[in-house]
Amino acid sequence: MQNTMLCPCQSGQTYAVCCEPFHLGNTDAPTPETLMRSRYSAFVFANVDYIEKTMQGPAAKSFDKTDCLQFATSMTWQGLTVLSTQTLSAIRGLVEFHVRFTTADGIPQCIHERSVFQKINGKWYYVDRVQPLKTLV
Ligand SMILES: [Zn+2]
Repeated sequence: MQNTMLCPCQSGQTYAVCCEPFHLGNTDAPTPETLMRSRYSAFVFANVDYIEKTMQGPAAKSFDKTDCLQFATSMTWQGLTVLSTQTLSAIRGLVEFHVRFTTADGIPQCIHERSVFQKINGKWYYVDRVQPLKTLV
């Protein structure tokens, strides 16, 4: 991994100063948005361990590691756009985003989702999503 590689989360920063410290466990994502970005980057790298350990609650309950790995590796990841972030309380936040990818059949997909994040014992976790929004193609 080169230090000058741009982060897959498209923050405009290098991976080394953006999502890598979270993936390595050197530090914890300080906000719902940084956690969301690091989870997207983890999908790009098929780092399912990171995806798994940054979930709690309903999201964690419905998580299947094998399915996740299959999904992460069969898609070609095209990019992430964070549309908005919303603070619900000191320990709950929302991030609305688009994720774009191409399926193994070459079909472009865009997921539009609002994720719920919760701070548990001082760390942010992805816990749920709010109403599935329309999938844009
Ligand atoms: Zn990043």
